[in-house]
Amino acid sequence: MITDSLGRKADYLRLSVTDRCNCRCLYCMGPEEVPDGELLSLEQLLEIGRAAVACGVRKIRLTGGEPLTRPDILELCRGLNALPELKELCLTTNALLLPALAAPLREVGVQRLNLSLDTLRPERYAAITRLGRLEDALAGIRAAEEAGFSPLKLNVVLLGGFNTDEIPDFVALTREHPWEVRFIELMPMGPCAHWKKSCFVPGQTVLDLIPELEPVESAGVARRWRLPGAPGTVGLISPLSHAFCETCNRLRITADGRLKTCLHSREETDLRGLRGAALEETIRRALAAKPAGHRLTETGSQTARTMNRIGG
Ligand code: SAM
Ligand code: SF4
Repeated sequence: MITDSLGRKADYLRLSVTDRCNCRCLYCMGPEEVPDGELLSLEQLLEIGRAAVACGVRKIRLTGGEPLTRPDILELCRGLNALPELKELCLTTNALLLPALAAPLREVGVQRLNLSLDTLRPERYAAITRLGRLEDALAGIRAAEEAGFSPLKLNVVLLGGFNTDEIPDFVALTREHPWEVRFIELMPMGPCAHWKKSCFVPGQTVLDLIPELEPVESAGVARRWRLPGAPGTVGLISPLSHAFCETCNRLRITADGRLKTCLHSREETDLRGLRGAALEETIRRALAAKPAGHRLTETGSQTARTMNRIGG
């Protein structure tokens, strides 16, 4: 197992496979795109996956942009799943393309899906995503369940003045479904870097609104609760109010091949063109210099990138 200079293990890679997306979420998507030729090729992505696993990574999450817009996504998943030491292959998606892809993704070895859904109201969904339709996202969620993905995690970004009145409706979903509904604090970066303060809602708001939630054990970065007797759980991911840098085990690789050891740092290591031992050595060196933590609440995010180029 590889550890950074502070002894934190680094076994989780979030691999952004594209910055392109079939949505334009207001808080996420920047105006610029990585030029076509600079997106990592299938071969480069597989080589990076192999090297990361050789360096100790045991879980890979594919993200984007929208990872399912990559025409070779199934081939990529099949190739990564063939790495014997990889324990978990997961993917984060807006669910819009899942009606056609959920079953094939399962066949090529994707084990878990995280689905993003910020509202349960059609007109709000259209407004926030600018291109998406709620009914397509809901059809995607159903397709994921039918394909056997369980437990599903639903990511809901808390957007002050936009969806906080829907917190009870999202929590109520956990009475009917064995899902983990995870409320995520909005991080000030890219298009939302300078949104007004009231847009940034602390996770605690969920607990204040739904006092009957009972704590259950945490899972990864999510602190978790449950409604009495409910099959599903409620998670809070609070990068601002409860930063989890001390236990951060993540590496990120951007759609254009830059390794980031901290989401909010400016530091990046260019992996493009590297292969074999040179690639592994570069990953190890970058990890050794992983920052102790971000200072999001004091300085804001230092990264110049928008979220669709990093992958969340
Ligand atoms: N397109 C896919 C999706 O939406 O699930 C994968 C990529 S998206 C960048 C990954 C996650 O990052 C989504 O759940 C999205 O809501 C979240 N996200 C984007 N910008 C964010 C921000 N500024 N703060 C917190 N979460 C953000
Ligand atoms: Fe696309 Fe996901 Fe960003 Fe929305 S949050 S614009 S779906 S990458």
